[in-house]
Amino acid sequence: MTRPCTAVSPSLGHHAARIPIALPAADRRRLECRGRAGHTGVKRRPEQGSERLIPRGHKGGVSVRVTVIGCSGSFPGPDSPASSYLIEAEGYALVLDLGNGALGSLQRFRSLYEIDAVCISHLHADHCLDLCGYWVARTYRPNGPAPRIPVHGPEDTARRMAQAYDLDPEPGMSGAFDFRTLRRGPYEIGPFRVTTALMPHPVEAYAFRIEYGGRTLAYSGDTGASETLIELARDADLFLCEASFLEGPGLPPGLHLTGREAGEHAARAGAGRLVLTHLVPWNDADVSLKEARDSGYEGPIDLAEVGARYTL
Ligand SMILES: [Zn+2]
Ligand SMILES: [Zn+2]
Repeated sequence: MTRPCTAVSPSLGHHAARIPIALPAADRRRLECRGRAGHTGVKRRPEQGSERLIPRGHKGGVSVRVTVIGCSGSFPGPDSPASSYLIEAEGYALVLDLGNGALGSLQRFRSLYEIDAVCISHLHADHCLDLCGYWVARTYRPNGPAPRIPVHGPEDTARRMAQAYDLDPEPGMSGAFDFRTLRRGPYEIGPFRVTTALMPHPVEAYAFRIEYGGRTLAYSGDTGASETLIELARDADLFLCEASFLEGPGLPPGLHLTGREAGEHAARAGAGRLVLTHLVPWNDADVSLKEARDSGYEGPIDLAEVGARYTL
């Protein structure tokens, strides 16, 4: 097991780690009121707030910051957009997945025009659909189009996204996005060393290993049980692993993981910290958490929440 990354003061314990770290109580209240009162009139600036984080075993120098932008599985939930994560190091910002609803949440943490690259794990809507809105935001910005940024995705991402917005395939979204087909790697995206692996899922779907300065993030994307995922997540400081299913009879193979399976994958990988994500709104997330805790994995386990921020 490697050095754990740290999300909160150790004294808060695991349960407290579920508090959305970068979302102060006042902001939570504003969000709760928003549905009733429309927008709050408060001009939001990207939130900075990692001040409450106290990295353990980290003596300064290089670090990777991981922010949960959206963690709802399969479709947005009342408290979260679909999948999206912001990965930052050396001022470089990589967005990992941009599922439906994530574009709004992202703006709370970083300007849309200070994103350097996007990676898309697969072309299910809950992982890629907000590229549509992002194309509009970059293409029709009032003070001129934003520069193209690379979008790394599965084969055919450019055509599929053009189709999603009802654009001609040529040029499609290529004025805003420099589409590149994901490779196994490892290869460089900004300061990050990125390795991908194909996962069992009904469509071409990738998991990621993202390394920087000796720190490692692993992200499962959507996947069924996979030995390859265990290898990809080997000794990761932080393992963002999907837990879409609850334990029960008749679960389809090659689709998603349960909390127990996520815990077992994390244990076998030797991951330092497990964050359960892709939590489907119709499930009780606390059951997923219990399954993971009962799996034999002995490291800290959190449920992903919007605004939770981890410094590796
Ligand atoms: Zn999904
Ligand atoms: Zn999927």
